[in-house]
Amino acid sequence: MRVAIIGAGVAGLTCAHELEKLGITPVIFERNSFIGDQYGHISAYLNIQHRPIKDSLKYFNKHFGISITPVNTINNLTHYSPNKKTVIKGNFGYFIKRGREKDSLFSQLHSQLNKPDINFNTLADYEPLSKEFDFVVAANGTASFTKELGCWHETIKTYVKGGTILGNFDPNTLIMWINKDYCKNGYAYLTPYNEKKASLILVVSEINSNEVDHFWELFWNTENFNYTIIEEFKQEHETGYAYPHKVGNIYLAGNAGGSIDPFLGFGQLSSITMGIMAARSMVYGKDYEKLIKKVVIRHNQWIYEMRKAYNKADNNMYDMIVTGIGLPGIKHLFYHTNFNVIRFGYFYYRLMSKLKGDN
Ligand SMILES: Cc1cc2nc3c(=O)[nH]c(=O)nc-3n(C[C@H](O)[C@H](O)[C@H](O)COP(=O)(O)OP(=O)(O)OC[C@H]3O[C@@H](n4cnc5c(N)ncnc54)[C@H](O)[C@@H]3O)c2cc1C
Repeated sequence: MRVAIIGAGVAGLTCAHELEKLGITPVIFERNSFIGDQYGHISAYLNIQHRPIKDSLKYFNKHFGISITPVNTINNLTHYSPNKKTVIKGNFGYFIKRGREKDSLFSQLHSQLNKPDINFNTLADYEPLSKEFDFVVAANGTASFTKELGCWHETIKTYVKGGTILGNFDPNTLIMWINKDYCKNGYAYLTPYNEKKASLILVVSEINSNEVDHFWELFWNTENFNYTIIEEFKQEHETGYAYPHKVGNIYLAGNAGGSIDPFLGFGQLSSITMGIMAARSMVYGKDYEKLIKKVVIRHNQWIYEMRKAYNKADNNMYDMIVTGIGLPGIKHLFYHTNFNVIRFGYFYYRLMSKLKGDN
């Protein structure tokens, strides 16, 4: 079986890993001359997001044979709304390094391949490859191919502006801000590399690319930061769902398959799952939609429902949310049990909408 993978990113590399395990060496096409992200940052895996999966890294190891070493564990969540602050302590997940360094996620995934056949500096196109290979996995990190194939349905468009900053940080603390004034329906977060260096990321919804700098400045002024910026980046975040996820012999995986969740914009766990399941579908002839239904499709549908409700909230409501998650009973249920908050949120908002007569 001849398989082409477009993109040596999260979904592409995990797909290659699974194919190797199943006795197939795929040909990978990567447009860059290197393995890794354009911009370095610290990403987060929050265990609360994918319940009943309790610990994402243990899950990858046990079910996919992939081992990922985090930079740190997340033991402290600090939430800010315009007038409230809540601090919660516990085991919440992991900080994972993105970028090009040896301990970054891409490098860790790459190092677990036995015989990687990677064509660097190659901007690949799915169409000619689909004629040359038995299967093509589009894992190119964007919705461009998905749109061409007519499978993309946009849910929310956001712009991300981020930077690497120097200051004093707790390496186990994830800080999150919600404030309509500078995030609109988005949010901002800080993820530390170590005590002295961190990523600061702002996600703003429903704006144009040229407006994001204004919101970034507003964010810094409102929160009164005096960190030193050593690197900055901005990019569009396309969030949507793909259907179908397989067209002919072409599989859509990772962001190309709509892995980014429409609430926080996280997509690593879904991208890894899609890479693995695309490989299993090819080799065992199983239905790809069914294989990704639970962890990716249904999960993102649930989150989308929460997103729609969240969009209606104002800053007063944000204050109530931040206060609410700090209340002992709620804090315990949300953060210290395996209660499926996303699923509950979905059914709760569906019920509320029905009672109010919304569509
Ligand atoms: C700033 C930012 C912060 C994020 N933070 C988090 C987080 O904290 N937690 C989380 O879970 N998720 C986070 N995400 C989302 C997560 O990074 C993505 O969901 C995930 O990386 C998607 O994996 P992928 O394989 O689809 O794409 P990528 O990992 O982006 O890989 C795509 C690869 O394809 C290559 N490529 C593109 N086009 C072509 C082509 N035509 N030919 C050949 N190669 C090509 C690219 O160079 C790249 O190497 C974040 C995203 C951003 C942008």
